[in-house]
Amino acid sequence: MVFGVHRDIEVDTAVLCETCQGSCTQPGTSPVTCDICGGTGHVQRQARTLLGNVVTSQPCGSCEGFGTRIVHPCEACHGQGRVRSRRTVSLDIPAGVESGLRLQLPGSGEVGRGGGPHGDLYVEVTVAPHPTFSREGDDLLATLEVSMTDAILGTQTTIDGLDGSVDLEIRAGVQSGDVLTIKGRGITPLRGSQRGDLRVGVQVVTPTRIDGKQRALIEEFAKKTKAPGPQLAQFQQGLFSKFRDRFRGN
Ligand SMILES: [Zn+2]
Ligand SMILES: [Zn+2]
Repeated sequence: MVFGVHRDIEVDTAVLCETCQGSCTQPGTSPVTCDICGGTGHVQRQARTLLGNVVTSQPCGSCEGFGTRIVHPCEACHGQGRVRSRRTVSLDIPAGVESGLRLQLPGSGEVGRGGGPHGDLYVEVTVAPHPTFSREGDDLLATLEVSMTDAILGTQTTIDGLDGSVDLEIRAGVQSGDVLTIKGRGITPLRGSQRGDLRVGVQVVTPTRIDGKQRALIEEFAKKTKAPGPQLAQFQQGLFSKFRDRFRGN
């Protein structure tokens, strides 16, 4: 979806019958003129109504309007002029497609009955979810988990983007919910060439298991920083909570 892709898909469609080339008759035989309609393909019917006799023209039921009848139907296609066949269709899926988009391939559909022209093939695209990246407009979103110590001290890291690695600078004092934007590493839109951005939401991970020595160090750190206790603040409906909702599948 991000870069576009070439796919070969297999489809079951009706193709021209090779045996009769769409003529529907067994090779060596030919259709005969319909004796019901005399080859015109339609019959006239008289009906007696209050207004007098009315003549109507209807397609001939015997030859289905073709004017000819097939005495010896082609055995390969049972007189249909086409057979079902599995074939491979090459598809170029453009970058930036969204689920539900329909690609139209003119002339790649079924051949008509009696060797009629090909219809079109419509292919509906479904974008498979990615375990890490999700989409918002032309941007790619992901979460970056940062350890508590890296968040305090700052660090440099390399993440795997969809098209190669990206060097990231995590500043000292980064907070959960901070968003790092990497320009031009998002999605190429379907109409346009300007790629969106890769946006990475920081989530600081608090250690859940520490040993006695680590605990003593943290307690000493707490004593030195004299941080205020828990403080109530305004609820934030920020970008990052949207990130998290997204990954929970909301
Ligand atoms: Zn045939
Ligand atoms: Zn007829």
